Amino acid sequence: MNTKYIFVTGGVASSLGKGIIAASLAKLLLSRGLRVTIQKFDPYINIDPGTLNPYEHGECYVTEDGAETDLDLGHYERFLGIHTSKANNVTTGKIYHTVITKEREGAYLGKTVQIVPHITDEIKRRMLLLGKTGLYDVIITEVGGTVGDMESQPFVEAMRQLQWEMPEEDFLSVHLTLVPYLKAAQELKTKPTQHSVQELQAQGVHPDIIVCRTEKELSAEIRRKVALFCNVKPGHVIQSIDAWSIYQVPFNMHEEHLDELVVNKLGLKGLPEPDLSALRAFVDKLRNPSKTVDIALVGKYVALQDAYKSIEEAFVHAGVANGCKVQVHRVLSDEVTAENVASKLKGMAGVFVAPGFGERGLEGKVHAIRYVRENGIPFLGVCLGMQMCVVEFARNVLGHPDAASTEANPGTSYPIIDLMEDQKSTTVKGGTMRLGAYDCRLKEGSLARDIYGADLIRERHRHRYEFNEAYTAEFESAGMVISGRNPETGLAEVVELPTHPFYIGVQFHPEYRSTPEQPHPLFCRFIQAASAFLPR
Ligand code: GLN
Repeated sequence: MNTKYIFVTGGVASSLGKGIIAASLAKLLLSRGLRVTIQKFDPYINIDPGTLNPYEHGECYVTEDGAETDLDLGHYERFLGIHTSKANNVTTGKIYHTVITKEREGAYLGKTVQIVPHITDEIKRRMLLLGKTGLYDVIITEVGGTVGDMESQPFVEAMRQLQWEMPEEDFLSVHLTLVPYLKAAQELKTKPTQHSVQELQAQGVHPDIIVCRTEKELSAEIRRKVALFCNVKPGHVIQSIDAWSIYQVPFNMHEEHLDELVVNKLGLKGLPEPDLSALRAFVDKLRNPSKTVDIALVGKYVALQDAYKSIEEAFVHAGVANGCKVQVHRVLSDEVTAENVASKLKGMAGVFVAPGFGERGLEGKVHAIRYVRENGIPFLGVCLGMQMCVVEFARNVLGHPDAASTEANPGTSYPIIDLMEDQKSTTVKGGTMRLGAYDCRLKEGSLARDIYGADLIRERHRHRYEFNEAYTAEFESAGMVISGRNPETGLAEVVELPTHPFYIGVQFHPEYRSTPEQPHPLFCRFIQAASAFLPR
């Protein structure tokens, strides 16, 4: 069987949830026994989102092989339970970088290098790359941005060419649009969808299936109208109604026959019905929590919903694993002071201190950590959150008021968090952090060892600074245990306080590995501890 290629584009507006639709379709196909992966093509010129502020495009998701990627890859991994890689996220920046590098090497033999065919050829090469591995039956490609934007045109042009270059039954195009409801007129409006499909067709791509985001049910009449004006079969207009949870969307798409339409068009015969039983069990529990657990998320990017996407999702998964709903209360770290910390964290059953970069909000994190340490409140710190818990311990337990990370205070007399030697000479910002999955050996008898139930684990990283080994003895003699270390470099990865009911800081990012079907043990145990804690 040839590899099948499905392309998902979006129209009318951004933020319609194209990533969730693509991931839901992938989930349905995977659960029908196909080998599926998803990739995302982003139209921006940054090589990757690693250098972007989370306020630009939300969280930067990190893959096992250390790629800094769009947050949609997190949805792909969570929905599918697969690992993606560097090849699964391509940007305009990467495409141009490759073409310009080849041009400098003289690879174009004196030709004028142009958008068509050189840029589009490189886009097509990357669109087909994962299919060439022989590992997949179906490759779903989500094209970022909105059809009609100038910057997504080369991607749509590459799709247009591929549409004719491959057998008809190997190519399928899904277009996601919005059908807005006008309250005053009490009507659903199809015109934006018509225009968006016209735009796509003007660029030579004919959608096979139109998925309409809507807040109200689409009547048969509306579906017929969209089909008529957009030149698709009536049964190929399907609705994606606002869902109470993103994990409900694969079920909604199945009810709308999305997977059936897709396998029929692609000539995939004799497949079983999707087996979604594990996700079904998760969704049923998600719908019926027996109680609510209030967790504070202390960080500086709290104003944007998507800035802590994987962390929020890991809390959803861990809540379900504990039969409860985790209510995350975002606390802006910049505003936390020694005076107001008790009121800011009032009623919280657990405190999570978030990853981050730069100086802003660090002191607020230190105040929050002191408060939870002294009051026995369950605490989980990730990356910068772990770094700040050792800063807090150095200052308030070991008595070094000047203790700091050199990221915030390069001249500190007690550089407890410092750059690794190999980072000191690095001047380039993009892609140069400690990135991707590394092994970590957990100490016998530690909380971490108990939580993971294994002595060797592997977790993903994204940071430049590290715990300064010079201070290990002083920390351990005062009761902070370094319970996880990289077996090759000896770098400290996990710290904990055995005298505290639940206090753990990790240099890596456990949130990237949590999925509904495999909730992360660290988040699960943190929520378990929080649900047993009686907040004041
Ligand atoms: N800014 C810190 C570092 O680079 C922490 C990074 C993070 O929290 N992801 O080490």
